Amino acid sequence: MRTPVETEALQEALCAALGAEAPVAPLTRLGADARAFAALDAATRARPTLVGPGTPYGPSTPAPAAPAVDALVRRAEALGVDQVLVPGVRRDEDTRALRDAGFVPVDAGAECVVRLKGEVDDVLRARLGGARLRDLRRRERAVAREVTWERIPLTALGDRPWARDACADLHRRRAEREGGSGGTPYTAEALDALARGPLEDRAALCVRRRGGAVVHAGLVVTARNGRGLHLLTQAADHDDPVARHNLHLASLYRLFHHARDAGLAWVHLGRGDAEGARRLGADLFVPLDHWLRAPGLTERPREPAVEPGVSEYASPPVASVPVPGPARFRNRPRFDLLDLSGNTNPFLGPETLYPELDTRELARAYLDAIGKVPGHGGAYPLGPGNALFTSGAVDAVMLLLTALASPRDRVCVTPPTFELYAHFARVLRLPVVEVPLQGADLDELDVEGILAADPRVALLCDPNNPVGTRLDPERVRELVTRARGVVVIDEAYVEFSAEPSYARLVAEHGNLIVLRTLSKAWGLASARCGVALAGPGLVDALRRVQVPFGFTDASQHAVRARLAEARRVFASVRAVHAERERLAAALTGHPAVERVFPSEANFLLVRLHKHERAMDQLRAAGLMVADVGHLVPGTCRVSVGRRRANDAFLAALSDVL
Ligand code: PMP
Repeated sequence: MRTPVETEALQEALCAALGAEAPVAPLTRLGADARAFAALDAATRARPTLVGPGTPYGPSTPAPAAPAVDALVRRAEALGVDQVLVPGVRRDEDTRALRDAGFVPVDAGAECVVRLKGEVDDVLRARLGGARLRDLRRRERAVAREVTWERIPLTALGDRPWARDACADLHRRRAEREGGSGGTPYTAEALDALARGPLEDRAALCVRRRGGAVVHAGLVVTARNGRGLHLLTQAADHDDPVARHNLHLASLYRLFHHARDAGLAWVHLGRGDAEGARRLGADLFVPLDHWLRAPGLTERPREPAVEPGVSEYASPPVASVPVPGPARFRNRPRFDLLDLSGNTNPFLGPETLYPELDTRELARAYLDAIGKVPGHGGAYPLGPGNALFTSGAVDAVMLLLTALASPRDRVCVTPPTFELYAHFARVLRLPVVEVPLQGADLDELDVEGILAADPRVALLCDPNNPVGTRLDPERVRELVTRARGVVVIDEAYVEFSAEPSYARLVAEHGNLIVLRTLSKAWGLASARCGVALAGPGLVDALRRVQVPFGFTDASQHAVRARLAEARRVFASVRAVHAERERLAAALTGHPAVERVFPSEANFLLVRLHKHERAMDQLRAAGLMVADVGHLVPGTCRVSVGRRRANDAFLAALSDVL
């Protein structure tokens, strides 16, 4: 729990700004937050309001417990003020005491945080793309030629009254420009009050000067846990054309670098404009409410937050246990917590902390990226609640079998297919039913055969490894619709295929899991990242059996960076297509080859005339291909490599003759 030290200090500053003993002001005077009150009636907005226990412009306020709420209400009565505001409470905190005392939530936007996992430029490139990063750097360079950067601790403000006055002046002018009736809380008195308060050691002014004149000033506070910075405010000189155009962005970019160089892990941009903050690299958005107690004010009905129950397909023990450990709290923001719960060594830097659990933003980025796979039909109607990151797609197979199947539940596989499905099922002592694929290309799904087996879990692979073909979508749909159990479609290779993914169906079918991976087209096999796409109830079931903290910070970073270069990835997929076609053509006429199967993946299944001999010959030539003769007699599976490697393979094959 955050203690209210920050907010107490800011409270003092607010009192000073309002020129009052107690922080009482009409809502319209509360700076940028006045916008949050726009929907309230005029009388409510104009009425004197006791603001407590925090301030409406600092870091968020911990939700007060019942005694603190009582004290606040009594203080309002003593002051003769009949309206009370508790600003900026995180929506996921326990707000029962406020509700019981008649407070009503007023939507106040979100806290916006830029998490700095990795080098600033890498982080920004991943979140904003290369073009926008180049623009930021260009602005910063333009500014740096003319404007200096200074960080003045508030303890040193006494010696530099010009900085305090310039900051207050820039804020006054900003408030006038914005036309707010309330002026600014960042007056010289407020800054003095801050410099004398409990934040004195942690607060600083960031000042930019051109010649002698201050053209930009911001106020930053180091977080109590020492891991991040709160950017409380910043204002630029709008009469200065360079400042107006570049300074805001350039200063933020500078601040990110400053934070990273100081070993900090995040910069809190304040609250409100989430879309604007996203364009500045923010990736964490924590929803906030102001809580208001006003005569006659009643709560408007809100959409109830529906917590999905665990899927009906979860096996009984899984349905009765929670998600283990801290993973349960993955949606609670951890960035400004003073975390003494992890039993790690505090003296050896940020790597001592466990990996980031809140991967919702990364899931959004992933869904966004796969929605852009050429020819796949655009965005999917899925959100972060439909996606679970796993340690590769194979981990997801193990998870889902463990989470869904009980002893004696049948697992159905369709050979020839990826062998690990049956392997894991057997290891888990689940009976495996094989319903082979049919047809000359081994691509015809025997729907009736699978339905007759009535499996708890049926695993399909599409495009299929080791054949490379796709299944008939009509048959797949029919199976998903008619099956009593869960249907899993492993789409490890789908980005190489001209036919779209089944991810769209996940929104319609509670018994469908689509598995994807970053190992194949996305080129990140070393990062071990798979994604299970399913309804929230199935995702919940998988999380209950998942080993906590498996998705390391290093992997998250690698995935984020790769998703940001989707265009390069899609171009490389085109290169794979071109090489696949060239290789297939060369093999088709090759005397050592009996047949090349059609492929929608990044490999070819090849039936050889002299299979055993060819495999020996390739091995002797130092060439490794997958001998899959035990799955499809007489065949090997060759991955599409770069041109030179493919040529070496063709040459080695010629030597067989
Ligand atoms: N599924 C299929 C069908 C595969 O062929 C492979 C790789 N051989 C995988 C999953 C493994 O994916 P990951 O690296 O994500 O575990």
